[in-house]
Amino acid sequence: MTEEINDAAPLDAVVIGAGFAGLYMLYRLREQGFSVHGFEQGDGVGGTWYWNRYPGARCDSEIMYYSYSFLPDLEQEWPLKERYPGQPEILRYLEHVADRLDLRKDFTFGAKVTAIEYDEATGRWTVRTEQGQTATARYVVTAVGCLSTANRPDFAGADSFQGVSLHTGRWPHEPVDFTGKRVGIIGTGASGIQAIPVIAEQAGHLTVFQRTAQFTIPAENKPLDQHFVAMWKQNYREWRRRTRQSAGGAPVSRSTVSALEVPEDKRRAIYEGAWGAGGFTFTFGTFGDLLVDEQANKTAADFVRSKIDEIVSDPEVADMLKPTAFPFGTKRLPLDTNYYETFNRPNVDLVDLRRTPLEEITPTGIRTSGGQYDLDMIVYATGFDALTGPLQALGIRGKRGRSLAEAWAEGPRTYLGLAVPGFPNLFTITGPGSPSVLSNMPVSIEQHVEWIGDCLAWLRDRALGGIEATESATVAWTEHVQEVANLTLYPKAASWYMGANIPGKPRLFLPYIGGLDNYGRKCDEVAGNGYEGFELSSAHAVAS
Ligand SMILES: Cc1cc2nc3c(=O)[nH]c(=O)nc-3n(C[C@H](O)[C@H](O)[C@H](O)COP(=O)(O)OP(=O)(O)OC[C@H]3O[C@@H](n4cnc5c(N)ncnc54)[C@H](O)[C@@H]3O)c2cc1C
Repeated sequence: MTEEINDAAPLDAVVIGAGFAGLYMLYRLREQGFSVHGFEQGDGVGGTWYWNRYPGARCDSEIMYYSYSFLPDLEQEWPLKERYPGQPEILRYLEHVADRLDLRKDFTFGAKVTAIEYDEATGRWTVRTEQGQTATARYVVTAVGCLSTANRPDFAGADSFQGVSLHTGRWPHEPVDFTGKRVGIIGTGASGIQAIPVIAEQAGHLTVFQRTAQFTIPAENKPLDQHFVAMWKQNYREWRRRTRQSAGGAPVSRSTVSALEVPEDKRRAIYEGAWGAGGFTFTFGTFGDLLVDEQANKTAADFVRSKIDEIVSDPEVADMLKPTAFPFGTKRLPLDTNYYETFNRPNVDLVDLRRTPLEEITPTGIRTSGGQYDLDMIVYATGFDALTGPLQALGIRGKRGRSLAEAWAEGPRTYLGLAVPGFPNLFTITGPGSPSVLSNMPVSIEQHVEWIGDCLAWLRDRALGGIEATESATVAWTEHVQEVANLTLYPKAASWYMGANIPGKPRLFLPYIGGLDNYGRKCDEVAGNGYEGFELSSAHAVAS
């Protein structure tokens, strides 16, 4: 049955997604006097933190800046307990925001958008969900996240497994009991590295199936000193300002010293200090050239490999855990709590799928070329079809019925990660070509939401009805995104930043690595110049 969301008049805007981005976008547009409705496929708000409920799920951004800055009262009230908030805490925060701002009433939940079609005659978009709702609107804003389409590799026999299969990105809402169970986990990316130590504590036996050994740095999670919290809260506005102007969306200092400039003993002492302090200081606070110079990078990689030797007691296991296939930090660097230590437990085994490839999932477990592993439960920690996956799943068709899949056959082409030529009045929050996953995301999200909100108000004030990225601005930006990435070591890794975890996905560097500070300035400049690089039209304008 079809349910019309707007039976009276077309909406000004539809927002898709109810995570950090969708919640703020909907609120912002509503506050600006636009009629707006949201669709969310989950049954509640929270996005990433609604879906990723696996044991050990936790943020790697520190709690002081993994939050909204547009709610100054809430930032004073919200307790800051732990350095890195866990999934339940972040979900509670977003649920609180939704209640406080009364956002749920403007969302339809359990509504998965599967078609978004543009009508050139009316200049309107029609949005349809799998569940039968439709809405028409002048603008569509996708807030579908970068990491919301779970990647389930096509392992032969996966459906035949008679035990319990779980994906970290689609975790059940009820607690999962691993007690006494033989558990296998496939994948050692950021989610796997968080989940493995926690599952190992409970499971009867845990077998870790590793395809690519990863670098990981200790998180050093801990309760926050409440004097520190009081000091932080007193200066919150200033921290927020600095955060917005930083390269990574976090108020941390970045070293400009080369790793090759300092003698070896001093370099090691600096790495030791950062390892002990925990967090991304290791990458950005130690030396300035780790991600641009191969020799400098090797010093960090060697240090982490030496730590693995120190921590892991079985030298053969330590060797399997040592990453060698890509430069340090060029895949999403996980932060961990006792990851390497977990391989000293008697109930944990490591299987290197490079040496003994996974052949099939069987009714009773996993078979590799090295033998059969009998299991009660399989956890897929196999990540996401990042950045483009959620957008492609929306079934977007723009002018002349052209699909986004056709427009992006060779890889995503965007203007500022915000807009795509041929798809007027459609905005993509944290789309490919924006800093997104290379930044502390709430900060990137707020920058996008505010830019889009200001843009729509600007158009309304001028009785303009349409905005579309030009082809030339899009080509220039898309080339710039690749050029900047090519100045770094990132493209040397077969990472999800490059689309390399999904068979057939074009290999391009997906996020913008030039820094949120530079990016924000560019967006402001574009707006200040009357939305330079966009074609504006008065067709279908509606009086405000
Ligand atoms: C395990 C994990 C840890 C992370 N840790 C960090 C961190 O430490 N720091 C950091 O900055 N970022 C982190 N991230 C990234 C995180 O995704 C962002 O910080 C942030 O939560 C993104 O918010 P969002 O609203 O853009 O997207 P999401 O939170 O992904 O929300 C998007 C929403 O859109 C909905 N949606 C998607 N497609 C459709 C559709 N077709 N129809 C209807 N609804 C749809 C989804 O269901 C989802 O609820 C992490 C991500 C994961 C998975």
